[in-house]
Amino acid sequence: MSDKSSERVIVIGAGPVGLCLSLALAQQSVRVTLIEALNDDNFLEQVPRAGTNHPATLELFDRIGLYKLLEPRGIIAPKLQYWDRHEGKLIAEFDHKHLKDDTPFPYVLQCERIKIVEEAMKLAKVHPDIDLRLSTNFTGFTQDADGVTATVVNPAGETETIRGRFIVSGEGARSIIRKDLGIEFEGFTYSDRTLNIEVAYDFRQHGYTERNYISDPDEWSNLFHWLGPPDRWRVHFPTKENETDEEVQRPEVLQQKLQAFLPIGKDFEIVGSNVYTVHQRVAQKFRSGRAILAGDSAHVNSPIGAMGMNSGVHDAFNLADKLAAIFRGQVDDGVLDRYERQRRHVAIQHSQADTIRNKRVLAEKDPAVRRKNHEQLRRTSEDPKLARAFLLRSSLIDSIREADQIQ
Ligand SMILES: Cc1cc2nc3c(=O)[nH]c(=O)nc-3n(C[C@H](O)[C@H](O)[C@H](O)COP(=O)(O)OP(=O)(O)OC[C@H]3O[C@@H](n4cnc5c(N)ncnc54)[C@H](O)[C@@H]3O)c2cc1C
Repeated sequence: MSDKSSERVIVIGAGPVGLCLSLALAQQSVRVTLIEALNDDNFLEQVPRAGTNHPATLELFDRIGLYKLLEPRGIIAPKLQYWDRHEGKLIAEFDHKHLKDDTPFPYVLQCERIKIVEEAMKLAKVHPDIDLRLSTNFTGFTQDADGVTATVVNPAGETETIRGRFIVSGEGARSIIRKDLGIEFEGFTYSDRTLNIEVAYDFRQHGYTERNYISDPDEWSNLFHWLGPPDRWRVHFPTKENETDEEVQRPEVLQQKLQAFLPIGKDFEIVGSNVYTVHQRVAQKFRSGRAILAGDSAHVNSPIGAMGMNSGVHDAFNLADKLAAIFRGQVDDGVLDRYERQRRHVAIQHSQADTIRNKRVLAEKDPAVRRKNHEQLRRTSEDPKLARAFLLRSSLIDSIREADQIQ
């Protein structure tokens, strides 16, 4: 039998998933050791990534007292628009008000990942059941009948072992735990990459709302508003296969792309840019004995539809409730297989399927198919019943309801 000090969950990675999992476990009196490679000096220097938080995620943030800290730092965005860049016109507008009977949060909150981890980290730092180890590198683990032993390199550069009952990988896509377990990360990587340009310019004066998906046979894009500071918009464009990061981020190239998208008669004020590779992958297994994968370590997808971080946070809460029930002695470890069945189903049938389709719709080249897609979006947005069904799916409420039905 394990001694008392090992009666804990070891969580690797203080990203949104690791932090939410730790807070949700600690809220249910399960002790956690949370390992993070970054430290107070560089934790907030991570590149811009997720930021659209769907209603189902806001409900979960609220459960751990995080929502009220995020709302003042974000933008409440009830609407979502689809545009046709080729024709220069709005195709469809969806209003989350159709979800008013489905959720207390009938809107998305535009609030960047970096603010989420900053606020969640503050909560984790003061929680007596969370032993937070910053500047600590996880290097590997072993497991046996009673528990797990994680090996880390501490801030002094010494190798240390930590004993726990379970270990969870919230390490992100490069998960050491997934690789150590030999779990395949099945799927594919798109040959084009995505260019993100951050611009200080108010696109609302041209009719855009806070979240816009723009279809175009040559150069689709996404356009999102962020509170900052500084207040800014993110514009995504695909890159060509042979373009290097340097070529595509030259100031004149960024300016050209923006002017071709929307000529404004003066230079855009560009405040940043980055290029990223887009993968569509799901781990073959989410659990092996006492080691469990959650978030990007278990699944990655294109950001079109904002499902990566959201579905990872949903993994975290699903898993926290099951681990807490195990610690209370109410259920046995077999419940973790249900976690895998539920969340792998969501990753494949929702996050993967929807983001792959979203990209296909935005990039469609066949004029007849484009017309049909646009017509369907327009009809859906104009019929309240169809619009609600569309939003239940896009806001991930459906995915949680469906997972609940899986035994
Ligand atoms: C441009 C872009 C836009 C996106 N937009 C959205 C969006 O709008 N909505 C959405 O839902 N998703 C979006 N995503 C996806 C989203 O960013 C990820 O799904 C999310 O950050 C995953 O969270 P995570 O906690 O699993 O992993 P991560 O956020 O990657 O965090 C992993 C943490 O683990 C730490 N770590 C890693 N290895 C070790 C180690 N060996 N030892 C110790 N610590 C370690 C890292 O330092 C990090 O803090 C976007 C992604 C990109 C690239």
